[in-house]
Amino acid sequence: MLEITKENIEKATAKARIAKPLVKVIEFRRYSVTNRETGATYEVRFTKIGNQKFGECTCPATKICYHISSCLPINAVLASQMTQTA
Ligand SMILES: [Zn+2]
Repeated sequence: MLEITKENIEKATAKARIAKPLVKVIEFRRYSVTNRETGATYEVRFTKIGNQKFGECTCPATKICYHISSCLPINAVLASQMTQTA
């Protein structure tokens, strides 16, 4: 589980813009990310502890990867929808 910070997510987002992976929602905070070129699919999960956000991905990367950053905007939309209905 890796902490998501503004710095590391910015780097990963720059990569995601180039790679443009396909993101599918499994459930809130759980996503499936597919690389359009290789077809490789990884699972991304988010956890929130206090005000800190954490992400994990099943890919071999040992830092915040573009799979995680690709899911963040969708996660934010789902989170805001949940607050509205709550
Ligand atoms: Zn990854």
